Amino acid sequence: MPDTHAAADAPLSRPLTLSGYHGAPTAARLLIASLGPGQRMGRAVKGLAVSWGAMVVSVFIPIAHFVLVPSFFGIGLWQFVRRLRQHEQVRGAHGTCPDCGVEQDFELSAGLRLPQGVQCRHCHRGLTLAADSAKWGLGSGSADRRV
Ligand SMILES: [Zn+2]
Repeated sequence: MPDTHAAADAPLSRPLTLSGYHGAPTAARLLIASLGPGQRMGRAVKGLAVSWGAMVVSVFIPIAHFVLVPSFFGIGLWQFVRRLRQHEQVRGAHGTCPDCGVEQDFELSAGLRLPQGVQCRHCHRGLTLAADSAKWGLGSGSADRRV
């Protein structure tokens, strides 16, 4: 049986630049996982379950439940639809620190905003990840790719 999962799970990547205090900026890659229909449904159901679980718990909070219950209900539905439509997920970045030269993975804050500050795990210096927009060849909405 051919290993079709390996190709589907292989991360996509987009070029970034990583700059530090001194030295020339180095190349980095944005790691993007492609989400299959089962993964999207699993994430959507998980998001819905968390929000609706909070909704059930908030029923027992006097007064505040008038706001919390409808809010968690709506947030759950919004998150379910949003995750169901999300075909790609950013998993982080990979690159070489321009200051100390150590190759490593970088965690990104929620929501992809570039440029973004990250920290080298080896020399602990603050670095800046920026989009190499000339190589991306597109504007915003790159995560909207339909499968
Ligand atoms: Zn470093």
